[in-house]
Amino acid sequence: AKNSGRNNWCFFHHSMLSNSYEQIILTDALRNAIANNELFLVYQPQFNIDGTQVVGFETLVRWKQTNGEMISPGKFIPLAEQSGLILPIGQWILQQSCKFLKRTNDLGYENIKISVNLSPVQLVDNNIIDSISAVIEETGIRHSQLTIEITETAAIKSLDDSIAKLTQLREKGIRVALDDFGTGYSSLTYLRTLPVNFIKIDKSFIDKISLDSTQSQLVGYIIDMAHTLGTTVIAEGVEDFDQLKELFEYGCDYIQGYVYGKPLSEADALKVLEEFAQI
Ligand code: C2E
Ligand code: CA
Ligand code: CA
Ligand code: CA
Repeated sequence: AKNSGRNNWCFFHHSMLSNSYEQIILTDALRNAIANNELFLVYQPQFNIDGTQVVGFETLVRWKQTNGEMISPGKFIPLAEQSGLILPIGQWILQQSCKFLKRTNDLGYENIKISVNLSPVQLVDNNIIDSISAVIEETGIRHSQLTIEITETAAIKSLDDSIAKLTQLREKGIRVALDDFGTGYSSLTYLRTLPVNFIKIDKSFIDKISLDSTQSQLVGYIIDMAHTLGTTVIAEGVEDFDQLKELFEYGCDYIQGYVYGKPLSEADALKVLEEFAQI
């Protein structure tokens, strides 16, 4: 037993070492990723509950290294945050997203919205409000077409500062969504405190909704509570019709998930607009 304990220690030590080495290499590669055209965006459609109408898209970033290897955002976003690279990368994501939306506007889709994830590191940046406004003005979209997605964990790190910034965004007409709703410490409390237009119910709740009646009821209460506060509800990670049926019964507003559409290239996103958008 002693021996195996020691072996375990060696294995653990080794993997941590190679892991951090890999992280250093990746962070270094990330520094040039924009200039090398290795980053690109995909757009996941958001539908009304019955799937007849696309209301907007969420931007999700992708990194394909020059050797062809894909690195998931779950892996490189934390590295970008630790290194500060998330500020230029986040600004680039915002620019590209708004340019994409402008192209859809020019094609006649004037009511489509774009949702962009904002890292906690971006949220604490003192220039963030001006940076976001600048992108909107440069690209010529309407303020009300942009939604900023933040997580509760990010918002409560410096609560007063977050409330002030979210309020400024909303005064400009920019929408705010509380992402991964339900995974934080006391989501329902912060729903009252934070000035948000949308909540996105986390996939972990949706996964259980057609299996566990207590979890299902909880989702129903969350939706009722959000509606009482005037907040619009999006369910994320909806994968099948059983989940859809429950969400329909609870009066959920919008659906995002594989059941209606995966994250798409710009060309494929435009096809979805052709088929499902109201001009
Ligand atoms: P998130 O913001 O919660 O994004 C939702 C994630 O769920 C995405 O993973 C999306 O592809 C995935 N997803 C959507 N529908 C389904 C479904 O029906 N089933 C399943 N299994 N998955 C679904 P992705 O693209 O790998 O992104 C992971 C996380 O990385 C995001 O979670 C977000 O926190 C972060 N991220 C992605 N893009 C950006 C970005 O542009 N900026 C920032 N700051 N973070 C980003
Ligand atoms: Ca999100
Ligand atoms: Ca989410
Ligand atoms: Ca999530």
